[in-house]
Amino acid sequence: MTKRVYRFKEGNAEMKEILGGKGANLAEMTRLGLPVPDGFTISTEACMDYLNNGQAFTSELKKEIETYLEQLELSSGKSFDDPENIMLLSVRSGAKFSMPGMMDTVLNLGLNDENVKHLATITQDESFAYDCYRRLLQMFGDVVFGIDTSHFEGYLDFYKQKHSVLVDSDLTAEQLKEIVTEYKRIYLEIKKLEFPQDPREQLFAAVEAVFSSWNNERAKIYRQLHRIPDNLGTAVNIQLMVFGNSGNQSGTGVAFTRNPSTGENKLFGEYLINAQGEDVVAGIRTPLPIANLKEAMPEVYQQFVEMSELLEKHYRDMQDIEFTIENKKLYLLQTRNGKRTAHSAFKIAVDLVEEGLKTKEEGIMSLDPQSVNQLLHPVFVEEALKEADLVSKAGLPASPGSATGRICFDAATAKEWVDRGEKVVLVRQETSPEDIGGMVVSEAIVTSRGGMTSHAAVVARGMGTCCVAGCSELEIDEFLKVVKYPNGTLTEGDVISVDGTNGDIYVGHVELTLSEKNEYFEQIMAWSKEFARLEIRMNAETENDIKTGIAFDANGIGLARTEHMFFAPERLIEMRRFILSDSTLARKEALETILEYQIEDFKTIFSTTQEKAVVVRLLDPPLHEFVPSKQADVERVAKEMDIRYEVLQQRINELHEINPMLGHRGCRLAITYPELYLMQAEAIIRSAISLQREMKLDVNPEIMIPLVGMTGELTILKEKINQHIQHILEEEKATIAYTLGTMIELPRACLIADELVKDADFFSFGTNDLTQMTYGFSRDDAAKYINQYITDGILPVDPFQTIDEEGVGELIRIAVKKARTIKPKMKIGVCGELGGDPESIAFFDKLGLDYVSCSPYRVPVAYIAAAQSAIQSK
Ligand code: PEP
Ligand code: MG
Repeated sequence: MTKRVYRFKEGNAEMKEILGGKGANLAEMTRLGLPVPDGFTISTEACMDYLNNGQAFTSELKKEIETYLEQLELSSGKSFDDPENIMLLSVRSGAKFSMPGMMDTVLNLGLNDENVKHLATITQDESFAYDCYRRLLQMFGDVVFGIDTSHFEGYLDFYKQKHSVLVDSDLTAEQLKEIVTEYKRIYLEIKKLEFPQDPREQLFAAVEAVFSSWNNERAKIYRQLHRIPDNLGTAVNIQLMVFGNSGNQSGTGVAFTRNPSTGENKLFGEYLINAQGEDVVAGIRTPLPIANLKEAMPEVYQQFVEMSELLEKHYRDMQDIEFTIENKKLYLLQTRNGKRTAHSAFKIAVDLVEEGLKTKEEGIMSLDPQSVNQLLHPVFVEEALKEADLVSKAGLPASPGSATGRICFDAATAKEWVDRGEKVVLVRQETSPEDIGGMVVSEAIVTSRGGMTSHAAVVARGMGTCCVAGCSELEIDEFLKVVKYPNGTLTEGDVISVDGTNGDIYVGHVELTLSEKNEYFEQIMAWSKEFARLEIRMNAETENDIKTGIAFDANGIGLARTEHMFFAPERLIEMRRFILSDSTLARKEALETILEYQIEDFKTIFSTTQEKAVVVRLLDPPLHEFVPSKQADVERVAKEMDIRYEVLQQRINELHEINPMLGHRGCRLAITYPELYLMQAEAIIRSAISLQREMKLDVNPEIMIPLVGMTGELTILKEKINQHIQHILEEEKATIAYTLGTMIELPRACLIADELVKDADFFSFGTNDLTQMTYGFSRDDAAKYINQYITDGILPVDPFQTIDEEGVGELIRIAVKKARTIKPKMKIGVCGELGGDPESIAFFDKLGLDYVSCSPYRVPVAYIAAAQSAIQSK
């Protein structure tokens, strides 16, 4: 029989797969001799068995749990019905990868009408006992029976108002008993069910509910967002309760060993006196900073500081620790590597390397390459801020970055507005895991309650979304959809600007700019470059973009898309003249004008990149992309070209293609209109000659032909282009060392790579087209159904964003192998979007490609991903 249950003392930190992160770390802390309340963990496998077998709880599993329960009773000397030593349990989820707040928890499990009285006698605190009972009723009702917590919360608020009670802890025992009675009535009214009085029945039901919570909507969305596989399952941790809500010498809190927002090496956290764990996370009461504990309970504080230092050294990373104090005794309930902002992640990685706790390699491996995007987040323009009207400065800077958008008060509206193209800011009293769908799509999140570790703060930091939490000056009415602030009122749809780095909120749209880089970012980039084997190039053609990529140290340009140069109005008209005229002379003249423009374009590119490599891709899109489509535009162009509307419309109809991203484009344009590519090749060479003469700059252009699928295409075009270039070089008495290569964007090209390689100096995989052509998905509108495919599990991820290793990846593997069998040193790169995706970069690195090329802002992401891949393959 497979073992499904493990005592904490049987496990260790390496067992995350089976025990989940929380379970493995509870086991590890137990092993280290830290004060962890005893308990056991039901494995993730048990969860998957349960979910795969039609949610059936097997008698074997029940028996195994019973055995461990008995052991726990024996070693703790407690039991559910011992009037002197009553055992209460917490039941918590815990998957391999942490999914904060996404799955369910039940606390105080085991209480019933009978033993609650014993608890009151033992603790001599009746209100404490009944407070535990009403919490159990609420959590159990929500988690196990699916009774919305608003029924319980609503009644509690109503009761407190009616009896003029301000905070929960002021409720008397008699009042709590009345609340308990009402809560039990809610069970009957909503579910026609009694609250189970048998603690064992409660336990099994709670375990089942936690298993099932693996598949609740918010957990599924979270997994999709963080690419966590669906088949891992959650473990269930069953642990003796300790009570943070047992008076003023008790409390509960969460602390990070370093500041998760800034990375500062100083204990950072919050706690609440006389409270249970969920009170801190839910953000209903605003907690105190951990530093206050130093005065309130100096010994406990000192102990906590020592334990947190020990844990950080042991795990060699910043820890996020949950603790509870029961009558001045400290217990640790969880430790894990703390989630952090990109900014702090970089600082912490560098600091830990410098403190000798991590090697450089480990420092790099600890980072999520994508988090660089947060580091390069926009900030408000100083000048614009001076003009802006303040909504509030009272908020907590919960997750950095700046953003503007229109106010929405609920997740559904936020989603709906974003779907219709709006940018939104989600404004709520507090968020709960149900809001995840709205939080994902929002530019920023603002809450009026809750601290730095509230749900909103934790989730926003994880997503890299800017967030201001606990902004107590705001009176948010989610029902009436208004928010009052000291100087006015805002309603749904009003635009605000939110600064998650300092907590300020402004009325209206404040202009944004990109944030400065910092020393930690620079250090990580320097280390990454030491380790990366792949070269990183950029996809860019404008001076600005090229400068951005160079600032990030890109090794030149992997793709300059020349069609982007044709869209300025004065150029577009020449392009249209070339495409639409039937007079050879007019076409020739148009091309000559374009040639002049292109020479200037290439001069700009080459002089900006200086000696760095540049791949210029010759014209690629279908010609109809350059022609007008609306009647009024056609009429205007006809006028400009001095021809009849009907003639022009007729020519446009001829060019029309149903499936525009296939068809007459790429090198096929040059097979039918060779003069186009010859003009571009000429422009490239002439600009190189002129830079050689004017600036003594030696450029070695890499000329790239797109969408080749047959050897004949390449041989013919190569011959024509080479001849044309030779002719110019002879005429100019100049020497320019250029190379001529091809993109590999068609499955057929992959399969005949051993033939194509003979006529090409280099290959560059155009993975956008290769993915489109392999799947037969049109890249222009696949987004419409790809999400459905992912939801239904047909696709694991969007193959336009992350390489499909089995299909597209296999084609690339075949092509590389075939090409390198003929030319072992063939230069091969990637210039599709996948060139900036960390997982895909690892794949390309392992295939031994020479470079990846991506948009300039992804260059740093690519460097870190390339370094990580190289470190992993060491
Ligand atoms: C590609 O297809 O991957 C590519 C880089 O070219 P484009 O996106 O311009 O078609
Ligand atoms: Mg392409």
